[in-house]
Amino acid sequence: MAREFSKAFYNSKAWQQTRKAYVLSKFGICERCGQPNSKQVHHKTYLNESNINNPEVTLNFDNLELLCDICHQKEHNEKYSPTIWGLEFDSNGDLIQKK
Ligand SMILES: [Zn+2]
Ligand SMILES: [Zn+2]
Repeated sequence: MAREFSKAFYNSKAWQQTRKAYVLSKFGICERCGQPNSKQVHHKTYLNESNINNPEVTLNFDNLELLCDICHQKEHNEKYSPTIWGLEFDSNGDLIQKK
């Protein structure tokens, strides 16, 4: 089951630009373990159907955290694993359907 509600958001230009700017602002360093070349921009407040159209949540730097793949997987596996829906993260940090 794909998370359809967030698909348009993750494909939006606003998000692409925000994500890029955020990664640059953190110099690509994972905020938890210091790993360079980190690319996963995580939403501290997880996105859902009711906040997906609220830029204060979706595009707010205060709600973002730059994580490496491992810290990002950990964050989601610990709290709320997207893998239960047959999803995984690609290298951009987007949820995709597992092949
Ligand atoms: Zn990390
Ligand atoms: Zn995340």
